[in-house]
Amino acid sequence: MNSRAKICLACVQADLIESGYAYWHRAHHVPGVTACWRHGVELLQSCPNCSHPFYRKNKLLPGLTDDCGCGWNAVKPANRLLASNEEREYAIFVNDILQRNLPSVDYQVLAACYRRQAKKHGFFNGNLMGSAKLFTSIRDKFGDDIISKIDLAYAAGVRRQWIRLSTTRGQLDMPLARHLLISLHLFGSAEKFEKCLAEESLLVSSENPTVRLKEKALPESKKKAYQEKISIILEVKPGVGLDYLWANAYQATRWLNENDKDWLLSAITRDVKQKSSVESVVSDEDEKYANILKGGVENLYRITQKQVRVNISNMLALLPRKVSRERATQNSFPLVSEQLELHLESLWHFRLRRFIWTISEIARLKLPPNSSSLKLLTTVPHVARQALINHFEWDLDSMVKESIDGEMMLRNTGVSRQWEGPPGYDMPMGGNAYMEMIASK
Ligand SMILES: [Zn+2]
Ligand SMILES: [Zn+2]
Repeated sequence: MNSRAKICLACVQADLIESGYAYWHRAHHVPGVTACWRHGVELLQSCPNCSHPFYRKNKLLPGLTDDCGCGWNAVKPANRLLASNEEREYAIFVNDILQRNLPSVDYQVLAACYRRQAKKHGFFNGNLMGSAKLFTSIRDKFGDDIISKIDLAYAAGVRRQWIRLSTTRGQLDMPLARHLLISLHLFGSAEKFEKCLAEESLLVSSENPTVRLKEKALPESKKKAYQEKISIILEVKPGVGLDYLWANAYQATRWLNENDKDWLLSAITRDVKQKSSVESVVSDEDEKYANILKGGVENLYRITQKQVRVNISNMLALLPRKVSRERATQNSFPLVSEQLELHLESLWHFRLRRFIWTISEIARLKLPPNSSSLKLLTTVPHVARQALINHFEWDLDSMVKESIDGEMMLRNTGVSRQWEGPPGYDMPMGGNAYMEMIASK
């Protein structure tokens, strides 16, 4: 989010001494932080020697003790620049907030808390919070240079409505660094800020029962959302078990396992039952679809330029509705399954069909039946072509003098659609993979 990775050279040294390894600190990466809360020095975002940035988009961060391309190393002694007091104050405040691990608060509570505290400091305008007065006070305290370092929008010239309590999508419409700067200025310390937030939460919930209701309703809506998530998975992936849910919907599975185990287990069992009941029932469309296949495959077997191998997916593509390979070959479609098995084409038969089409094209276009014509027209591998020519004792030179009826030629070979090929050629051949891929689409 920051597009920056920052280190404190003193921390690198201290880490190595204290824990044996140096690491990227969380507290250095909160938006707006420019100083080390612990050592007070300026954080580096790039090599001080050659200015190569530590952060690079879509790259892993470098190891903190690795040499830079220029030979610089974070462990080597270097001048450390002390950050300004204000930057250090901000860094310390941010780190305290981070360590306190504050609970999330409703934006109404946060806004009310800012308002109340601003008024206490005299930043008010009649009955309203005096945003302009608060803004001026922050500028007086931190100065434009420091605020620009902390808040990039400020650096880019945003001054109007810098403090705003309007909301977008249930949050106050300000960047995080600005919130932190405002809260630092208003509350002075993380401890005070946390205390004020807690008090404000109490006040808001007692004067506004809907907030309390909302908090109470949370587990219920969480439950619903998690149950919905699991239900959808079980619907899309029928028959998956608890293992699958742990791996693919960890949060929901964990929550339900802890809070609503009965529901989770019954959802899984229900799903398995449904699956088996679906399987055992023969589809109403079985016979109809089997007849469609019976008629359709003859078309698939015709010798044309765009012929495809008559495999299961190409046959299933003939059906008016999508039927998965799994369903088609399981109990729900016995007649369809029979047709699929009956008409499945062997690889050699498919090669034969393609080669016959090639020869008929050579004849039609009156090309010489040499290797360059074959190369132009077919992807049947050379070895397979030779095997077919030898096996059927074809004399291409004389065959192509007259026009060729491919269907007739295929019938004359007398081989079945499941033909295993000429004896002795049961081996993988180059040049197939691509065509087979196309054919099985
Ligand atoms: Zn440090
Ligand atoms: Zn460098």
